[in-house]
Amino acid sequence: MLTIAVSKGRIYEEALPFLEQAGITPVDDPAKSRKLILQTTHAEVQLVIIRATDVPTFVEYGAADLGIAGKDVLLEHGADSLYEPLDLGIAGCRLMTAGRVGSSFPKGRLRVATKYVKTAQRYFADQGIQADIIKLYGSMELAPLVGLADCIVDLVDTGNTLKANGLEPRELIASITSRLVVNKAAMKMKHQAIQALIDQFEQTLAQRALS
Ligand code: AMP
Repeated sequence: MLTIAVSKGRIYEEALPFLEQAGITPVDDPAKSRKLILQTTHAEVQLVIIRATDVPTFVEYGAADLGIAGKDVLLEHGADSLYEPLDLGIAGCRLMTAGRVGSSFPKGRLRVATKYVKTAQRYFADQGIQADIIKLYGSMELAPLVGLADCIVDLVDTGNTLKANGLEPRELIASITSRLVVNKAAMKMKHQAIQALIDQFEQTLAQRALS
């Protein structure tokens, strides 16, 4: 049996065509079902639909053999413990700094609100900027508006969320897409099944590049 961990929401929706082309169609719709383990039309594959930040953890510990997760989550997790054989090119967005429209950042220490604490720490250290990172779990955009932080580090897609809150994107930290990740032990123990899946996903990618 192969277990694949997939992030809820946009990544799940955009990963479905890859899974379907590999003969893996979930029997239940996670939007309607409360089941956490989804059986599929493939007798030897099941899906676990979990929070994005939990996907690398499930795969690292072997609770799932494979996972599909955003590069943002993998950067933050520190993905040395996982293989990352494929960029699926889905759920694209940018990890950016953002601040209030027209505001300039202070000369001294910068206060940064984000859920990407490690990634932000690394980024500002690389830039030679002293930063105090404030961990938030959501609604990052609020932090500069109420004086909690000078800037935020968050995902930007259309930019509409920033705009609606009087913020503007500043520096690009990383371009983000979803990746296929594999547990290192599973890659050895279940090599044939996992390699077949990787090959199929690669074919789907190649077809997409042509169309
Ligand atoms: P937007 O308003 O289109 O720039 O989208 C920004 C909001 O959507 C932010 O709250 C982001 O955290 C979230 N977001 C954008 N793209 C993604 C993605 N690929 N995966 C997860 N969240 C995203």
